[in-house]
Amino acid sequence: MSKPKIVVLGAGYAGLVTTRHLTKKLSAEEAEIVLINKHNYHYESTWLHEVAAGTKTPNQARFMISDVVNPNRVRLIYDTVVKVNKDEKRVVLENSEVTYDYLVVALGFVTNTFGIKGMEENAFFIQDIDSARLIAEHIEYQFAKYSAGEITDDELLNIVVGGGGFTGIEFVGELAEIVPKLCKKYDIPRNKVRIINVEAAPTVLPMFDKDLVSYALQYLESRGVEFRMSAAISECTKEGFIVGEDKELIKGGTVVWTGGVTGNPVLGQSGFELVKGKVNVDADLRMPGEENIFVLGDCSWVMNKETGRPYAPTGQLATQEGVVAAENIKALIHNEPLKDFVFDDKGTVASLGVANGIGNILSGTKLQGKAAAAMKKVVDDRTLFLIGGPKLVLKKGKFRPF
Ligand code: FAD
Repeated sequence: MSKPKIVVLGAGYAGLVTTRHLTKKLSAEEAEIVLINKHNYHYESTWLHEVAAGTKTPNQARFMISDVVNPNRVRLIYDTVVKVNKDEKRVVLENSEVTYDYLVVALGFVTNTFGIKGMEENAFFIQDIDSARLIAEHIEYQFAKYSAGEITDDELLNIVVGGGGFTGIEFVGELAEIVPKLCKKYDIPRNKVRIINVEAAPTVLPMFDKDLVSYALQYLESRGVEFRMSAAISECTKEGFIVGEDKELIKGGTVVWTGGVTGNPVLGQSGFELVKGKVNVDADLRMPGEENIFVLGDCSWVMNKETGRPYAPTGQLATQEGVVAAENIKALIHNEPLKDFVFDDKGTVASLGVANGIGNILSGTKLQGKAAAAMKKVVDDRTLFLIGGPKLVLKKGKFRPF
């Protein structure tokens, strides 16, 4: 009998961890492993706000997949997944097709505009390395044009960020770092450049306690970030966001939407049953009714039995799911019972620029300031360790002192 073929879609956090664990748990004689990803590199999705601001270069936030996955053991295919045909156990790629016995869908997120008029056409998104790079380049281009006298309207220097969640706040924190440097480089007074965060809710960062949120707001305001809360965006035009009942225009030369994400559109293109854009998986991480398909990371909802609500989609969750998916695939191949996924929440830390942050760790310990910034770097390095081992930490790690 030929050996089973395991196909992993996506080399993000969930896909890389699944693949690496499969290679440790199953011998080459036991299973063939195929990893399919759009690019030949992995990027750190959790660092994209830094690339978008220009505080990190794209190359600092990515590495070659073949650096952490042995191409002699895993067949690497660099191509774009178009859809999965689960009745035929076949994945359609842009340039070929691949069959599978076991499938892991780990294709990550795309930005969700919630249908806000003009958002798709006029706003930048922090979605992958190229979209993030585009934002940093656009911001600098605005500075260069202003400095050269090609644009004269001060408001075109404004950077307007929609969404006061994790990504939006971490992004304005990085902008507060880079803007003074760009002002110096292009000889533009700092007070000419406004960084404006726009949020529909009465507060930002809803996942943190009020005291940490007010610390974050005070710190960012002291660095020149302006907040417009309770300001629902009804439209995005070429000029900026339209907010509130009186249709006020918040003008900017760089307009970025960070207000939401959803599962990869391949899920819908494949005819999978979706709840708010993702697959509601069973406790063992399989798609309901499917023996051999696992859906991980930002493509799925995993129920937290204690709260009756799904876990928030995070890199931390995605990496932990990858370990369990690999174990469960091994169990299926060996005809053993599968185990349920249990999330081990190690807490959440948000950066507020390079040397500041807020966080909740180890069930209730609160951190703010430099301690949180240091913890954030530990978290980022730990993630690198989980997806690529110690060599990757040495190559890409954030352990350098600030
Ligand atoms: P990803 O890591 O996004 O990987 C998806 C992979 O699939 C990518 O390699 C992509 O190229 C590939 N792919 C996509 N479409 C296709 C296709 N059609 N064909 C082939 N390949 C494809 N989480 C935290 O836990 N902590 C944080 O501090 C944090 N900060 C964040 C900051 C930002 C700016 C953002 C955007 C997210 C942050 N998150 C954070 C959330 C976290 O990044 C995601 O939850 C996590 O990336 C999900 O992992 P994943 O494996 O599902 O997808």
